[in-house]
Formats: sequence, C-alpha cells, structure tokens
Amino acid sequence: MNNLTILKANGIVECRICGLNFLPELAEDNERHEHEHRKIICGSVPYEIREFLKSFGWAIAHGEANANVPRGHWTPEIGKRAVVFAYWTRAVSNGIPENDFEPYMAAQFAFVDAIVSGDEIAIKNADYLLERWPKYGG
Ligand SMILES: [Zn+2]
Repeated sequence: MNNLTILKANGIVECRICGLNFLPELAEDNERHEHEHRKIICGSVPYEIREFLKSFGWAIAHGEANANVPRGHWTPEIGKRAVVFAYWTRAVSNGIPENDFEPYMAAQFAFVDAIVSGDEIAIKNADYLLERWPKYGG
C-alpha cells in the first residue's frame, strides 16, 4: 500500500481518493479511474462521501445531536476519505493548482493515517509533506 492505493485480492487495488476498485494493468480500468479523478478535480465528490455527509447531515437535521455514528456501513477508510475531502475542498476554495491534486491527497492521507495511528514520527513526516501547501490550508 502506498498513500493512495490499498492492495486487494488478485491484483485489484482500491483508490483511497475515489474509492474505485480496479485492475491497474487494464487500460480501460485506468481510463475509468482517470475519468473519476477528472470529475473530482472539477468538483465531484465520491459516492460514499456524499452518502456520509448526507447521513450525518440528516441525523443532525433531525435533531439527533448525539448521533455520533449515523446509520450506514461506515468503515475507518470512509471516515479518512471524508476528512481528506474536507481538506481538499478547502484547498480548492483557496485555488490549489489541479496538478497538485494527487500529491496533495497523498500527503493528506499520510497525515490522517498518522493522526489515527498516533505515530509521532509519522505525524512529523506528514507535517513535512504538507509544508508544500501552506497557502491552501494544508
Ligand atoms: Zn481514484
């Protein structure tokens, strides 16, 4: 696993940004994956993240102020993706160049992984990676 993919069975990887499961060796899978990232760069949000935000939003809208975990099959990975997307939307608002999309997301995943694990060295390393983007709210 690097910061952006999780190896699944039979060579299939899951992209931590868009959530797509695909076979990197297949040209059509890579095309589909690039298309997903183009959509995100243009403002799209992955399905699980939209559902996560809606689920939390509805719980709070219904006055379930103590609804810490709204209904849904939320994995830690979806939670991490939601946090990373919150950072990404802020970076987009502050004009981050689109070519920085994947390196920025990789650095944010490294940061979120480090915080969740509580590994002080990993946190310092992630902070160092994020210093590349001080003006986008890294
Ligand atoms: Zn992806």
